Amino acid sequence: MPASVGAPRQMLRRLREVMAEHVSAQARLDKIVVLIASNIVAEVCSLYLRRRDGSLELMATEGLNAVAVHNTHLKPGEGLVGLIAEQAEPKQFADAQHHPAFSFRPETGEEIYHSFVGVPVLRGGDTIGVLTVQNRIKRQYSDEEVEALQTTAMVLAEMIASGGFLADEVTTETRRSTNETFKGKPISETVALGHIVLHEPRVVVTRLIAEDADLERQRLLVAIEELTGSIDAMMERGDLARAGEHRDVLEAFRMFAHDHGWRRRLDEALATGLTAEAAVQRVRNDTRARMMRMPDPRFRDRLHDIDDLSNRLLRLLSGDTQTAAMGNLPEDSIVIARTMGPAELLDYDRHRLRGLVLEEGGANSHVAIVARALGIAAITQCKGPLDVVEPGDAAILDAEGGELHLRPTQELISAYSDKVRFRARRQAQYAALRDVPAVTLDDERVGLNINAGLLYDMPHLAESGADGIGLFRTELQFMISPTFPRLDQQTQLYQSIIDAAGDKPVVFRSLDVGGDKDVRYFRIGAEENPALGWRAIRMALDRPALFRTQIRALLRATNGRELNIMLPMIADVWEFKQARALIDREVALLEKHGWPQPSRLLIGVMIEVPALLWQLDSILPLVDFASVGSNDLLQFLFAADRGNVRVADRFDPLSPSALRALRQVARGAEKHGVPLTLCGEMAGKTLEAMALIGLGYRSLSMAPASIGPVKAMIRSLDANNLQQRLDELLEGHAASLREDLKSFADTSGVQL
Ligand code: PEP
Ligand code: MG
Repeated sequence: MPASVGAPRQMLRRLREVMAEHVSAQARLDKIVVLIASNIVAEVCSLYLRRRDGSLELMATEGLNAVAVHNTHLKPGEGLVGLIAEQAEPKQFADAQHHPAFSFRPETGEEIYHSFVGVPVLRGGDTIGVLTVQNRIKRQYSDEEVEALQTTAMVLAEMIASGGFLADEVTTETRRSTNETFKGKPISETVALGHIVLHEPRVVVTRLIAEDADLERQRLLVAIEELTGSIDAMMERGDLARAGEHRDVLEAFRMFAHDHGWRRRLDEALATGLTAEAAVQRVRNDTRARMMRMPDPRFRDRLHDIDDLSNRLLRLLSGDTQTAAMGNLPEDSIVIARTMGPAELLDYDRHRLRGLVLEEGGANSHVAIVARALGIAAITQCKGPLDVVEPGDAAILDAEGGELHLRPTQELISAYSDKVRFRARRQAQYAALRDVPAVTLDDERVGLNINAGLLYDMPHLAESGADGIGLFRTELQFMISPTFPRLDQQTQLYQSIIDAAGDKPVVFRSLDVGGDKDVRYFRIGAEENPALGWRAIRMALDRPALFRTQIRALLRATNGRELNIMLPMIADVWEFKQARALIDREVALLEKHGWPQPSRLLIGVMIEVPALLWQLDSILPLVDFASVGSNDLLQFLFAADRGNVRVADRFDPLSPSALRALRQVARGAEKHGVPLTLCGEMAGKTLEAMALIGLGYRSLSMAPASIGPVKAMIRSLDANNLQQRLDELLEGHAASLREDLKSFADTSGVQL
């Protein structure tokens, strides 16, 4: 009775012939069930498919009463068929009718059949149907028979999914019509309405049944070798950051690629007569179905790994290794990827790109920095959407709230359209302020500058109407470059920045890498406390050649114009002196190399290490300007890692301790007549910016999008009144002055 080893293959061959016939979908299904029944030597073979309401409809049968076709519907979970659908795994019963889950349907006439085997028809790990076989006698179905049924079910699933095969009500995509929301971490703060594009398009397997089994085996072997080879090479070269790859993900790939179980399952799938692509798809479906039902969330991550690996293999097998950036992009693309490198994001057509959703990566990763510079809506650490999303799905990416809404309802779309319109109106109001000065009601002028780091940021300077660039983070070029940017590359970038800024000043900060600003080719080595480690000016002074190269590039790019250099992470006066001496040496060398002296060279200090608060009287007389890096200053003051969400929000920058420290700097700068700016994140928040003005700050540097709101706030503020109120408040002992400052704004009509 058991089928011969060649039987599954034979069955698939026949199946291919049936599929090629020009008959109706129903006639084809009818033929398929007859074919399976005869191949397995069974009296009954039936196919149930899921309808939109979740029930399973008998679509075709050989052996059961014909009247039951399209009339028998099983509710979700009902009967043995429902059980198989729910658990998404094959099951057999020698005496089906005595199983507690058995559901008797008189119209089918199935009471005379005792043995029963059923396999799920899987698509993307979901059950879209069940294929069953029954016999009168009590019998055991062999592993090969079950395997053959599973292979047939897989072929059926692909055929159904490729469309045109079945009536409308039967669906492989019940989830597609429903709205789903996923949480993530904001990278930028805009909102985008658009359509989903998969960064790595899924390969649709169309050639399912093998013509030459040996050839398919060979193709698969070559593809696996190519894949593992490229992973090994990537890990050896260590340029994972550029490719947006994560070491542990690649390790997982390696593990799977060498996993005997996975290889064996692929071999078994090939042995049933599938093509290499179909075998990969088949094993992926089974693994997904198994893992999706495991309670431990860690298996979900593995599911991603196997999915990714399968997709990469399929892309190699199909020869289609392009990312979506190279294809035809819809005009309102929201690109979704597990991970991505910054260079890959830059491959996309900016004008068609509205949003980016990443499943992995920090909000300060290199790709995140580029996303912000491009001004698109972007979130990261958004788990789950890749499991359920289809290319072309409508989506709303609310980067402000850190949410991705897939297939949004009409109400949600209208709500967001209103929100986008409202934002656009606000933007228009801010744009109208572009050319008016940032002056308070009592005539205090406040300098408003933008923070930048890439050439992409430059258009924001004119668009925002900012006075200049208060902080140019030179490390960004280093972070997104695969290798160390050479002198001429650095010079070229700085020159483009200075040219783009025109007559507006640019403050270049010398290289601030280390800490969370990871640049792989530097090989800093593991540090226990990287934020307190070998970074920024410490590295510059220990590796003067590196620092001097950058200064040389800046001086050359300046080419006789004005140059502002700012030194980060200065903790002690001697560091500033030493760095200044290195700069002076480079200036002295200019003539020798035939470059003109800068018309004016200003060297400033960043105040971001608390120790400087007690050296203000010694350092300020040495500097041309100072800028408070409140992100670092506050993280060190409160001993709370700025990148650790569990502690980053534990303290309030508007607490008296923080404000007193900031006031001390403002008073010091005033005493020594040193121009002072604050360039940390708090400068871009209206309430915080208001407090800073109350403390005496008259220059701020922030993200370009904040210029409008901050300017509107300034133009509605009486700085003197606020200064008095703040000094009073700072006499007290409140935990935070946030509420007091809000009520000050409220009662005095400050626009926050
Ligand atoms: C800061 O520390 O506030 C700052 C502006 O520099 P960065 O965020 O680049 O460390
Ligand atoms: Mg800093």
